[in-house]
Amino acid sequence: MTSMLTTFSGAALDRAAERRTDEAWLAERLADPASRAVAVTEGGVIVDGERLARFGVGELDGEPLLLGVQDGTALFAVAVVGAPGGRAVGLREAAAVLAQDEGGLAAYSSALANWHRAHPCCSRCGTRTLIAEAGFLRTCPNCGAQHHPRTDPVVIMLVLRGDDVLLGRQPTWPPGRYSALAGFVEPGESLEEAVAREVLEESGVEVAAARYIASQPWPFPSSLMLGFFADHAAGEPRVRDGELDDARWFSRAELVAAAEGAGDVHLPPPLAIARRLIDRWLAETG
Ligand SMILES: [Zn+2]
Repeated sequence: MTSMLTTFSGAALDRAAERRTDEAWLAERLADPASRAVAVTEGGVIVDGERLARFGVGELDGEPLLLGVQDGTALFAVAVVGAPGGRAVGLREAAAVLAQDEGGLAAYSSALANWHRAHPCCSRCGTRTLIAEAGFLRTCPNCGAQHHPRTDPVVIMLVLRGDDVLLGRQPTWPPGRYSALAGFVEPGESLEEAVAREVLEESGVEVAAARYIASQPWPFPSSLMLGFFADHAAGEPRVRDGELDDARWFSRAELVAAAEGAGDVHLPPPLAIARRLIDRWLAETG
């Protein structure tokens, strides 16, 4: 299987995890005028053409979070209020305009900054926590709890039955838009179990084996989409839990037409891993 480089993956830098606890190295890098920082806004980033805009660390007002080392230079992310220069764009637009590796950096910096924004206080005792390990830990000065940045896993899957694929649509989507079924992984659940449960809950269909295909960081605010193909085992689709307003089988011919922009069925944009999964299945079965 060839690997699939999905949107928001492919950040080209050394994350330099061993440096996060190296206080002397960090102090030097923070003081070094050559060190760079990218700016994360509420819901977006600051771009400069096809790249994230680079600033001096001191130019940005906020706590620098260490992303890693790029071309020998330390690179930080700073959550900012307002635009310090450059062009502020939302993350979806960023994914469209940025080069692949810079899109990966946008997802990385946003997910990390989003986590800090959303978790200012200790979830155990409510005390305001302090940033440690260059942004990869928050510690509680009252109870000593340590809180690590979170990534929330989401399974997204194409259910396959011979030449047919099961897709669904949410009531809020534009008319004719269909996509892969998806849902958050629940506590104590394997990915395969999550695939089977979500498909059953949303469509009433039972699946057999689930095959992992590819993943995609999805920083809205900090998810990881895990893409699967799942074989149909039993049942016909019918909407059950109110999350979808339709779920049905699509023939290969229907999907080929939709992928070419013909007909009334609209597939998700290439930005979405759902579309990558559909394109992958079309290529494998072509
Ligand atoms: Zn605490």
